[in-house]
Amino acid sequence: MSARSVSILGVTGSVGQSTLHVIEELRGQGAEIEVEAVTAGGNLKVLAETCRKLAPKFAAVADPSQLAEARAALHGLNIEVGAGPGALQEAGARPAGWVMSAIVGAAGLEPTMAAVRRGATVALANKECLVCAGPLFIEAARQHGAQLLPVDSEHSAIFQVLTHPERVEKLTLTASGGPFRTATLEAMAAATPDQACAHPRWSMGRKISVDSATLMNKGLELIEASYLFGFPSESIDVIIHPESVVHSFVHYIDGSVLAQLGAADMRIPIAYALSWPDRAHVSTARLNLAQLGALTFEAPDTAKFPALDLSRAALKTGASATTALSAANEVAVEAFLAGRIRFLDICRIVEDSLAALEGNEAASIAKSPTSFDEVAAVDQAARDAARRIAGSLAAA
Ligand code: NDP
Repeated sequence: MSARSVSILGVTGSVGQSTLHVIEELRGQGAEIEVEAVTAGGNLKVLAETCRKLAPKFAAVADPSQLAEARAALHGLNIEVGAGPGALQEAGARPAGWVMSAIVGAAGLEPTMAAVRRGATVALANKECLVCAGPLFIEAARQHGAQLLPVDSEHSAIFQVLTHPERVEKLTLTASGGPFRTATLEAMAAATPDQACAHPRWSMGRKISVDSATLMNKGLELIEASYLFGFPSESIDVIIHPESVVHSFVHYIDGSVLAQLGAADMRIPIAYALSWPDRAHVSTARLNLAQLGALTFEAPDTAKFPALDLSRAALKTGASATTALSAANEVAVEAFLAGRIRFLDICRIVEDSLAALEGNEAASIAKSPTSFDEVAAVDQAARDAARRIAGSLAAA
């Protein structure tokens, strides 16, 4: 791998730490990887440990009131420190050729856009910024010559086997089914945050873990795939594949189906994005097909997991509806993780928030946004509606 400069937005999270491990391994093989900037939400302990290993030039934390504390945590490391939204954006804007976008939620949008606007190669783990700003985000990448490399394992899989995009019949996204694949509705109704976060295959942050339990993660991925690869909802299937070995399929017009397989380890798509268009050696677990024996697939239960149909409907309605869906879901998941609502309330809040916005003139979900300001207005209106509905459910 040739020498390169990278930045990692969301370095303290699950994807951020996997990126750190890949960089350490490649550096150990002699790769020259300089780290320009890193960002954290509020985890200063992990930020300091990471900075000692990566030696970035700049580190930003989300909360402006944490500036002094962050400076103290990074004291002696010769790192410039910033705090607040401007500092997060500066991290994206600094001159790294490759930027990992791994902040969770719509909070990742502006820092990632700062990298997109200067034409960087953006490794996109954060799916919410694409779901939230969809066509505008893709158009900005095109205009500024930014290369988007999907890191979500399903989208990385599709990207790796999408040899003839114009000859594709359909895509199939695989889903593990999450921790409640075989649970009853009664058990799901009583599920605790820890149960919802106990993913059977992947170790991830709490927000995406809850999304995997509701299957909203797959709904968001369906929207992400539609915007990223330019296919309509009807051309994207979802199949439950509990072993999480096949990471997605591309079906071609001659009946051939191409897939990418691998262990359920985010270091694989991260290393692919970091070494693209080449490949690098990473010490991830290797597949032992004989030991696996069989792979299973089943249709998703859309009655038990309404998030899939909600996501498809939002995608059909248009880009503002997917903004609203993602924003309402963020609020609902936060309320669930804080113990204020029940697990099954999450999709109900998303559905009711979208319905509440249908007649909203100021933030209409029927219109496609023409600017990032319009995206922000719809995002805010959906969050307000979701908070109202969550509040009434919590009080009931
Ligand atoms: P985590 O919750 O583990 O990490 C999130 C990161 O974002 C942390 O660095 C966190 O900082 C930071 N952060 C949180 N809130 C804010 C904020 N308001 N402003 C700035 N930074 C903030 O998430 P994951 O790593 O699991 O996921 C990151 C993204 O990647 C998500 O969009 C997810 O959907 C996507 N993804 C994740 C996968 C996985 O395997 N984990 C797989 C595919 C996609 P701190 O911890 O310091 O508070």
